[in-house]
Amino acid sequence: MSNRVSVPFAQILWRPLLAGLARSWPHSCFVCGARCSPFAVCSACADRLPLAPTQACPQCALPSPDGALCGRCLQRPPHFDATRAAFLYETPLREMVLALKAGHGFALLDYFHEILLCAAEGIEADCVLPMPLHTRRLAERGFNQSLELARGVARVLQRPLRYRAVLRDIDTPHLAGLRQRARRRAVRGAFRCCEDFSGQRVLVIDDVMTSGATLDELARTLKLAGAAAVSNLVLARTLPLRRQ
Ligand SMILES: [Zn+2]
Ligand SMILES: [Zn+2]
Repeated sequence: MSNRVSVPFAQILWRPLLAGLARSWPHSCFVCGARCSPFAVCSACADRLPLAPTQACPQCALPSPDGALCGRCLQRPPHFDATRAAFLYETPLREMVLALKAGHGFALLDYFHEILLCAAEGIEADCVLPMPLHTRRLAERGFNQSLELARGVARVLQRPLRYRAVLRDIDTPHLAGLRQRARRRAVRGAFRCCEDFSGQRVLVIDDVMTSGATLDELARTLKLAGAAAVSNLVLARTLPLRRQ
């Protein structure tokens, strides 16, 4: 597609400029509005954010006693090897993520980078890959929020950010409400690797992990391209609905 090249270049040009401006303004806490520094969340509100459980399945990051592999991962192992989540996708974290996606939460990026780096501690990775966004959504939004999250992680970890290595060919519909099997079917074949990942340990960055079906399909694609290991690092994790 002709806009495959032009959109990333547009991002490269205007995104750092916007992020720089957001950082240079004095911060108001996103949650309570108080003046704060150095991040756009004050320490009192940061202490109340819904942290992901420490006792979690190492593969999918759902709560699990003693941090053991959960029943779902034992029953049907996903293609990714590990998942770390920083938060649960609950208020006010949900509103923070939605603001980021809407383009008026860039001031939160520095804070999110710090939190993601803490959550990533101990994960070995050779490269960082943001969850690819379909070109149509990229054109609508003007940026990929997962790429913005991944930039700071890759920079601190000093790993290449391979944001052009995988394309998203299918703009998958919202998967909410679908059962697990239907979600897997909806995302099947959504990604295409343009580069070789032989022997690479890939750290995938995403904003929110819901069922994990999209991350699973991305990991499957990466492993077909030779990836030795795929770990997910997500800002927020939703808990499964009770009926599932
Ligand atoms: Zn606050
Ligand atoms: Zn699990």
